[in-house]
Amino acid sequence: MSSAELVNPRDLSFQLYEVLDAQALNRRPRYAEHSRETFDAALETALQIASEKFAPHNHLADENEPHFVDGRVQIVREVQEAVQAFCAAGLQSATADYECGGMQLPELVAEACWALFQSANIATTSYLGLTASNANVIERFGTPAQRRKYLPGLRAGRFFGTMVLTEPQAGSSLSDLLASATPLADGRYAMRGQKIFISGGDHELAQNIVHLVLARIAGAPPGVKGLSLFTVPKFHVDDQGQVGERNDVALAGLIHKCGWRGTTSTMLSFGEHGRCIGELVGQPHEGLACMFHMMNEARIGVGTGAVMLGYRGYLAALRYARERPQGRRPGNKNPREPQLALIEHADVRRMLLAQKAYVEGAFALCLYAARLVDEQRTGEDAAARDDAGLLLDLLTPVVKSWPSQYCLEANSLAIQVHGGYGYTRDFPVEQYWRDNRLNMIHEGTHGIQAMDLLGRKALMKDGAALALLGRAIGATLAEANGFERLREYGPALLRAWDAIVRTVGQLRPVLAQDAQLGLANASAFLDAFGNTILAWTWLRQALAAARALPRAASAEDRDFYQGKLQACRWFFRWELPRAETQLALLRDLDDTTLAMAPAWF
Ligand SMILES: Cc1cc2nc3c(=O)[nH]c(=O)nc-3n(C[C@H](O)[C@H](O)[C@H](O)COP(=O)(O)OP(=O)(O)OC[C@H]3O[C@@H](n4cnc5c(N)ncnc54)[C@H](O)[C@@H]3O)c2cc1C
Repeated sequence: MSSAELVNPRDLSFQLYEVLDAQALNRRPRYAEHSRETFDAALETALQIASEKFAPHNHLADENEPHFVDGRVQIVREVQEAVQAFCAAGLQSATADYECGGMQLPELVAEACWALFQSANIATTSYLGLTASNANVIERFGTPAQRRKYLPGLRAGRFFGTMVLTEPQAGSSLSDLLASATPLADGRYAMRGQKIFISGGDHELAQNIVHLVLARIAGAPPGVKGLSLFTVPKFHVDDQGQVGERNDVALAGLIHKCGWRGTTSTMLSFGEHGRCIGELVGQPHEGLACMFHMMNEARIGVGTGAVMLGYRGYLAALRYARERPQGRRPGNKNPREPQLALIEHADVRRMLLAQKAYVEGAFALCLYAARLVDEQRTGEDAAARDDAGLLLDLLTPVVKSWPSQYCLEANSLAIQVHGGYGYTRDFPVEQYWRDNRLNMIHEGTHGIQAMDLLGRKALMKDGAALALLGRAIGATLAEANGFERLREYGPALLRAWDAIVRTVGQLRPVLAQDAQLGLANASAFLDAFGNTILAWTWLRQALAAARALPRAASAEDRDFYQGKLQACRWFFRWELPRAETQLALLRDLDDTTLAMAPAWF
């Protein structure tokens, strides 16, 4: 398949180099050996493996989901070949230090590489993404012995990793987790409990699977403050990293899903025979903080995955709309005249423009978040690093949730552009929609992210994070003011931002006194906040386009920049205005949903 079906390569280079100035990172000591050439080489390798090894079995794995054969999980053969090619190219340790065998790439470039795999095949990529995040947690919180034991295997793709939180009775509410860990005389723990929905929980793609499990040490306090984190390998591993006997982790069942079918989803049983051994990672009762380290990265990954499913659908819809002739202009009833391509109809352009605005806007947001990770790690001074961390913390719920909602909507529009054909399994767009439907559910549901944003993040550090974001938006507005064609956007963005700040200010005391009332409309806040942030990311893109347009070297480049400016205009005129209505309802403490008694349904 053509790699241009995975992403618009012109857009990728625009986002990296013209909007986010990836090359500026080369001035940092950590990335000094890199250059635009090495970044492009990594992206080129990723694009090649993604299009040759991942994309071709995307549909096959969807149609042949993992199943039991003689008590073992069987997965289509192509998945193994793909993950091996990925690991052989060193991509599993793209951001790791040179001395650990890594490429020491900036997070921004690594995230762009991941994005290409997610576009090609989100299900196969999940095994690798989970493993990378798992390794990062062990690197950060593990003991030197744990790092020696697990990291080389995880980084080389010999071991795969999972994250194990959810239990049948405790999904969103982690404070109700019951899995237990009983201390043993040798310092390790006997694990026991049932977990559900564990992605990549069993397979034979690697020599071993290292589960990172949240459980409660006997006698721990109730709630999330009593949760600790453990490594629980499928096969025991000795101090030299050699794989030994089977641990007491059993596959209790496979889950059959709406989409994302290529990834095994498992129910796991720990300690059925009383012989499941785990090792503590980090401090007792601080498991959730360690796990959040993994989940925050995973959430940027979820947002980017949602973007790329939407992006792939958009590119498919665009191609279809250019190729399929159907109908004539309104008012032309002459059947002897040739039919027009779908893209000539204004309503089809509306659907394409909405998709473009959602997916390219959200792509800009996710890459910006990855750039913040780089700032947090390698920023010029401590203040710059702290600021980046604070911004990232505030934006994470939006980075996870906005693409999950709107790029799913993009997938729905891609089906609509295909008409009846889009609803068949002969065209790929229905799979993209099914695959994307997961993203509003896992890694913290949409509703939970909304409450996190309004109830915690917006108030964080006495509003310091919100103020910091306000200053960043102000800087963009000041720059945009220098361009005649962008001036119309300044007042609209400023109004939306002021409305957010006023809303948070008004809700702050309500949240302290009556959290149920204060959080009742949190998802509307997430929507309004997200649309405002997306308007900002569009203005940043429009700025880069307005700067470059006068010196564009070719007609293609001029068209590209005009497309960016038009999508920005669409977003500001059609999407952003909804934010003010929603925020006004929030400020009025509208209790329509809260006051709807369960018995009235
Ligand atoms: C395909 C797939 C893969 C997954 N992979 C993993 C994995 O690898 N590891 C892992 O640990 N878990 C995994 N999960 C589990 C996932 O994280 C949970 O499904 C999710 O956290 C929601 O939990 P739940 O399904 O129990 O839904 P519930 O928590 O019961 O939520 C149901 C609905 O109620 C809402 N709700 C719940 N509580 C509240 C509240 N207090 N206030 C307002 N609304 C609320 C939710 O937003 C949601 O809309 C996966 C799930 C799926 C479907």
